[in-house]
Amino acid sequence: MLLIKNGRVMDPASNTDAALDVLLDVEKIKEVAPAGKIVVAAGTEVFDAAGLIVAPGFIDIHAHLREPGQESSETIETGTKAAARGGFTAVCCMPNTKPVNDNASVTRFILDRAKVTGSVRVWPIGAASVGSKGEAIAEIAAMKEAGIVAVSDDGKPIATAKLARQVMDYCRSLDLPVIEHAEDVSLAAGAVMREGVTSTRLGLRGMPAAAESVCVARDVQLSELTGARLHIAHLSAKASLEQVRWAKSRGLRVTCEVTPHHFTLIDEDVTYDSRFKMNPPLAAREDRNALLEGLADGTVDAIATDHAPHEPALKDVEFDRAPFGILGFATALPLALEQLVRSGQLSLMRMVELFTQGPARVLGMERRIAPGQPADLTIFSPDREWTYDVNDSPSKSRNSPFDGRKFKGAAVATIVAGRVAYRAS
Ligand SMILES: [Zn+2]
Repeated sequence: MLLIKNGRVMDPASNTDAALDVLLDVEKIKEVAPAGKIVVAAGTEVFDAAGLIVAPGFIDIHAHLREPGQESSETIETGTKAAARGGFTAVCCMPNTKPVNDNASVTRFILDRAKVTGSVRVWPIGAASVGSKGEAIAEIAAMKEAGIVAVSDDGKPIATAKLARQVMDYCRSLDLPVIEHAEDVSLAAGAVMREGVTSTRLGLRGMPAAAESVCVARDVQLSELTGARLHIAHLSAKASLEQVRWAKSRGLRVTCEVTPHHFTLIDEDVTYDSRFKMNPPLAAREDRNALLEGLADGTVDAIATDHAPHEPALKDVEFDRAPFGILGFATALPLALEQLVRSGQLSLMRMVELFTQGPARVLGMERRIAPGQPADLTIFSPDREWTYDVNDSPSKSRNSPFDGRKFKGAAVATIVAGRVAYRAS
């Protein structure tokens, strides 16, 4: 048993913001009561959360853990350790491993590795198509049985409207969300950043915002046709957000996520430094401003990191040749506090919702601080000051444009199934 006392409990699911103590059993929350009211047996472990916020366990709905197959960039062990340090109690891992997670045996391998080496919960996402090649539909039902929580061909879009329709039809009957990496590959071909004044100035090939929004429009239409749950990954463009807003106003089951780098940086920040290369690329200022609005007004359902580790030998090359993607776990919460809360865009409660109840709802789950719920908690300080040194990261990779940045706010403890998975020293 573990007693979390003297904390400020913030639970968006019940709109609770109060001084409460929380008693955890091994797996579940046992009791929640006003500060000082819970009586525990002598010897019960106590965590003093004075001055800290106690939130439901953060869920990252979009990450790449690289195992199996690319263990020189990340493993389930190193990735989940980094996730715990960032305050995440559960991580959804994308299927673009080697081999691709397109069948139940790979799904089971990931879950087995997570059980043995993982610091936090790992929820695999299965591929939509065999090998994510966009030709034949993957063994989705068998993967669901094995434990996937969603399907996606992330890294690329589901190749054709016909296949996307088939996948959605199938996933609707299985009640699984389809997570789309929205990109029209013909518009994005060869591009390494967003098309605009900056790409022209740098002489780098750019893709227009429409490379994303054209695909979002396609999938929203298909969600309406099939009734499937559609979730747009790493949404970056204003026009895409407008599609999602329209879909929600029609009552369609469409949700979306935004990454911290897309609500923090814009294309004007891009230099020839490959740490600024990600897909979708950093967008225009007006896109970023639209994302801030969407995060505030409820159009955006979740903050997701798209944690995409690449070992230095792969990433530290010319911008054109470098793979897309940056690390995400360590900087998500501090960037959200800085860019969303302290800037006055969002309440702290809404920010917590975007890390907890929001992604849970996308997955058809619940995340709240109440008896009987999983004993997963994220305890954080909104004002602890620190400087990000990427060399300190438990991740095997170092590709972050935020290295060296001074932050205010950090996870102080990450509790998974009643166990302390990370505790700041
Ligand atoms: Zn993606």
